[in-house]
Amino acid sequence: MMEDAFVQLDGVAKRWNGQLGVEDISLSIPRGSFVALLGPSGCGKSTTLRLLSGLELADEGRIIIDGKDVTTAAPSERNLSMVFQSYALFPHLSVAENVIFGLKVRKVAAAERREKLRRALEITGLLGYEARKPGELSGGQRQRVALARAIVANQPLCLMDEPLSNLDAKLRASVRKDIKKLQVDLGITVIYVTHDQTEAMSMADIVVLMKDGRIQQVGAPESLYYRSANTFVAEFVGSPP
Ligand code: ADP
Ligand code: MG
Repeated sequence: MMEDAFVQLDGVAKRWNGQLGVEDISLSIPRGSFVALLGPSGCGKSTTLRLLSGLELADEGRIIIDGKDVTTAAPSERNLSMVFQSYALFPHLSVAENVIFGLKVRKVAAAERREKLRRALEITGLLGYEARKPGELSGGQRQRVALARAIVANQPLCLMDEPLSNLDAKLRASVRKDIKKLQVDLGITVIYVTHDQTEAMSMADIVVLMKDGRIQQVGAPESLYYRSANTFVAEFVGSPP
């Protein structure tokens, strides 16, 4: 096992009634990196993320996060936050209440909640929107609320599943910058699912390209582009012929 891996998957597999989800997933993810799980629809990206989160349990293999074997651990025991493509906000709660919801559950003191809220709203450009309800926000703003919630959760690992897919192109570019702040400014390790190769290649330090439940290539964006492991990789990332 790689010594400095923050997240490690060893031979992870998941099936449903014999139908393949993912197979033989082995990965070493350094602390502080931005990893994109990339590939066409149905290739196993979300399944890999759900196995990391504990929303699904692996049939085979091991998952280690920050030195702890979490293969069978509940999501709450894995020290991670999640951001999904659907914002999963409480519609009846304000922006502020949505962001600090988890802090209240954990009985964090009011003064600390206020400070964490202020900082998260500052990072995501949402200062002044505290009292709005999700229904009064644009899609981009709603996704920023979800990011702010991940920020106040203060976890070292954040899992994101196609967080930009409900946004138009212009909004996507600006929310993308806020997502990068989690890694660059806050030092959070981000594992990011997308089917969009431009998104993956521009945002990630490490791209994991998948097909039919299996990893095809892992590496820096340039290495997938210039040293594609096979024709699928070359075609998917649009390598020069
Ligand atoms: P992606 O996120 O890359 O589009 P998924 O991880 O969602 O792909 O799906 C990978 C494969 O696993 C697909 O063939 C999908 O149909 C199957 N799969 C995912 N979740 C389930 C489930 N709960 N039950 C049965 N099959 C599933
Ligand atoms: Mg998916």
